[in-house]
Amino acid sequence: MQKVLIVEDSRTTARFMAHNLKEQLGLAHDCAENRKTALTLLDTDASQYFLALCDLNLPDAPNGEIVSEILARNIPVVVVSANFDEDIYKRLMLQGVTDYIVKRTPDDMMYLMRVVRRLRANSGVEALIVDDSNLWCMQVSELLKRQRIMAYTANNGIQAMRLLREHPGIRIVLADHYMPGMDGIELTAAIRKTHTMDELSIIVISVGTDAGARFLRSGANDYVFKTSSFEELLCRISMNLDIQDLIRNNRALAERDALTNLLVRRQFFTVAQEAVAEARKKRTPLCAAMIDVDYFKQVNDRYGHLAGDIALRQLGAMLREEFPAPYICGRYGGEEFCVVAPGMDKKDFAHKLENFRTTVSSKPVQIGALSIVISVSIGMAELRANDLETLISAADAQLYTAKREGRDRFVWQP
Ligand code: GH3
Ligand code: MG
Ligand code: MG
Repeated sequence: MQKVLIVEDSRTTARFMAHNLKEQLGLAHDCAENRKTALTLLDTDASQYFLALCDLNLPDAPNGEIVSEILARNIPVVVVSANFDEDIYKRLMLQGVTDYIVKRTPDDMMYLMRVVRRLRANSGVEALIVDDSNLWCMQVSELLKRQRIMAYTANNGIQAMRLLREHPGIRIVLADHYMPGMDGIELTAAIRKTHTMDELSIIVISVGTDAGARFLRSGANDYVFKTSSFEELLCRISMNLDIQDLIRNNRALAERDALTNLLVRRQFFTVAQEAVAEARKKRTPLCAAMIDVDYFKQVNDRYGHLAGDIALRQLGAMLREEFPAPYICGRYGGEEFCVVAPGMDKKDFAHKLENFRTTVSSKPVQIGALSIVISVSIGMAELRANDLETLISAADAQLYTAKREGRDRFVWQP
């Protein structure tokens, strides 16, 4: 359900939108130049569209009739029009459209793409609205629904804290300033004891004008006056989610090695330490294997560094395929890898490692017309009454034996 439906009678405009969707966001689309075609597409399979971009003036529906027909199929609609008209804007908002964007300049297209990107990313985002006014809760959750954001509502701080515990996926909290019992500032401070500012954004909704600094000092990411437009509130919500996404993406990039897509050493240790602690607590088995490419320096010397990189990338892909979660795979050093197997019987893991060794040497790396055979040496050890570092040293000692005994072999102590 990742397609966009473009309903637009101007071919030039439709083509321009389609081009931007594809180039900037990698999104597929279908185009309808009139109401009839749009309805045919929707009747064939409405569920493939997560969004419709609609013109209001179609040859067979000149007054925006198509908008309600698309909304009736539960597809969010962004109206893209050549002119802005305040009355039409109000009518469309009442009807339930997500946004109304004027297309005049290239900047308008940039803005439209930002809106579409956010709407796509909003799938699965959960929010919490905390306000003692049920009407406000209802209005804002309807507004968020149009942005594809699922909202929970609470009338006071106690309920809010309970919902946050029950739904750890909540990424944004809209907290009223004045509420009976816990107020917005106290609630913010309470939430900050367990949720950091980069995982959960809190926006305080304020009636006063002088408490801004207090909201921010208590840990709010932002605040909005209740008298502000819903548009402004939505802009601030989107901005907060954009920042969260940026942080998440950067974090994910920093955790993985760019060449092999395996965990970088630091992240590998973080995750593996947790697995070791868990294994200790539950008294379950845990093994670690050190894997090192044989004579890799010669691969570089003979075929070039780039060929070496390709070989490492292929090895990374093989490791990810053979050892998916709950295995923990890391790039330990240059051409050295570590795999931790939590909860797995030592013999079974040994069997898998021996298979992996033979797979590597039987699957040459293809570099253009070149076919390079590489091999790996592997050492394995089991967690005893020791820590991760000692476990890895023990596996490394076995790896050293494998190297000494001639390489392309797997060594362990049954
Ligand atoms: P051994 O069988 O004893 O492990 O021999 P080796 O040649 O593999 O071991 P050595 O430690 O002498 O050399 C490792 C080589 O791996 C040296 C280094 O240039 C290369 N290497 C490390 N990281 C990368 C990388 O990211 N890309 C490429 N192409 N080579 C790398
Ligand atoms: Mg090596
Ligand atoms: Mg090495």
